[in-house]
Amino acid sequence: MNTDKKKIIVAVDGYSSSGKSTMARRLAKATGYRYIDSGAMYRAVTLYALDNNLIDDAGNIDKVALTRALDTIDIDFRIMNDGSQHTTLNGNDVEREIRSLRVSDNVSPIAAIAEVRHALVAKQQAMGRSKGIVMDGRDIGTTVFPSAELKLFVNAPAETRARRRFLEMTEKGNHVSYEDVLANVVNRDRIDETREESPLRRADDAIDLDNSQMSVDQQDAWLLDRFNETIAKL
Ligand code: C5P
Repeated sequence: MNTDKKKIIVAVDGYSSSGKSTMARRLAKATGYRYIDSGAMYRAVTLYALDNNLIDDAGNIDKVALTRALDTIDIDFRIMNDGSQHTTLNGNDVEREIRSLRVSDNVSPIAAIAEVRHALVAKQQAMGRSKGIVMDGRDIGTTVFPSAELKLFVNAPAETRARRRFLEMTEKGNHVSYEDVLANVVNRDRIDETREESPLRRADDAIDLDNSQMSVDQQDAWLLDRFNETIAKL
């Protein structure tokens, strides 16, 4: 496929654990685009806050100190030998830690802080400046790239999403219960949808996808069709 001449931005938004990242990553690989997991960036800021005692045991966040520290938090992505992408925080590989339930339980309140969003959105927009990018998140089609050429909004019932996430975490050796994962997914969705600053919302021009009955291969084919249609219309 020759996608060199016409590069686009693909925005993949949706609810927690809806399979957005898998879809987005695989589309990027198939098209030679860069993949950016914006959720990993919010997770990395959350890990920073936890490790620097900016969140107390009751979950209260020291917003002033965190806002002040934002300039010193460097988040990047490192391509590993097996082709996978690991998130780095101030140069350290934090890929495993940012997927823990400890981070998942604290990330949505951190992501609701306007200053955190402004800093990360600016970084995400800079990453998409020359297009040729697939980014997944919650506000990519609405706030980060409102004029993205292709926007997807992914959803599936909460139980389906929690089961997927639970299997993924247990396969990676994380000891979690299904009930805790489900509670986390439901709680994050609620906070993400009701926050004031760029809440999780379907962009008016997004294409809906409920992937609960789809295999990964079917998803890949469906998404590549949408991608090719979009490129053909340019
Ligand atoms: O995508 P993932 O589930 O890893 O994202 C973790 C959290 O980061 C979400 O629950 C949400 O609170 C926040 N997030 C966000 N905006 C994005 C991506 C993630 O608020 N664009």
